[in-house]
Amino acid sequence: MRIDFHTHCFPDKIAARAMDNLSRTAAIHPVTDGTATGLVSMMEEDGIDKSVVLSIATNAHQQKAVNDFAASIQSEKLCAFGSVFPGAPDALDELERIKMIGLCGVKLHPEYQQFYVDDEKMKPIYKKISELGLILTFHAGVDNGYLPPYHCMPKNLLRALLWLDTPVVAAHWGGQGCNAEVLDKLCGIEQLYFDTAYGYGTVVPALAKKIIEKHGADKILFASDAPWNRPSQDEYVIECLRLSEEEKEMIYYKNALKLLGGK
Ligand SMILES: [Zn+2]
Repeated sequence: MRIDFHTHCFPDKIAARAMDNLSRTAAIHPVTDGTATGLVSMMEEDGIDKSVVLSIATNAHQQKAVNDFAASIQSEKLCAFGSVFPGAPDALDELERIKMIGLCGVKLHPEYQQFYVDDEKMKPIYKKISELGLILTFHAGVDNGYLPPYHCMPKNLLRALLWLDTPVVAAHWGGQGCNAEVLDKLCGIEQLYFDTAYGYGTVVPALAKKIIEKHGADKILFASDAPWNRPSQDEYVIECLRLSEEEKEMIYYKNALKLLGGK
């Protein structure tokens, strides 16, 4: 069984435009057409049973539409996270709605949403997410579409975690482009998970191996970042790390099943 804990898709009407903008900004060629149907057919090709779909609200007015879309695609194969825009006056109410409409968690993207994860203004949002028991995924580390400074580096995440009392997923092996710092600063933190999204071609394999050893295979979530990588590419990374069958089972699906609680 395979669960991909980090994927993206968009409403059919805007998928083509969104794919074009995002792929040009980051200079990455997408592997699906950006729709939910495109994602599910790629999952079938790559042997993925379930994907977590992460959407991001990039302004205050977009929140409701983003979360309604997320709710509309939930199925046996797709489990959707919602999003709030940190500066939105109704962000806390929208978090309650995210819980009410049955979304599994929240994705925040500190580059797209322009906030530091350890900014004090995030405290009420983190408190509400924790009270609601939602999983929180952060984009972490470098983003190819943006110039530095980046807003969720390991030192920032360390501080933010003090204000969070819920499972937190740091995407891209804990921080794209900062594997050594992740190994040094973030490994071993109880509430923290790392997803493997976009690791193919970016993670340093020897450091990935050490991160798993130090952080524990029970805290690593298999993920691709589709449509920017195929799940089969990130599966190749895991297969190259000489892990035990037991460790691989945890990474491929057991940890995700536990976190999602059967959703
Ligand atoms: Zn992503």
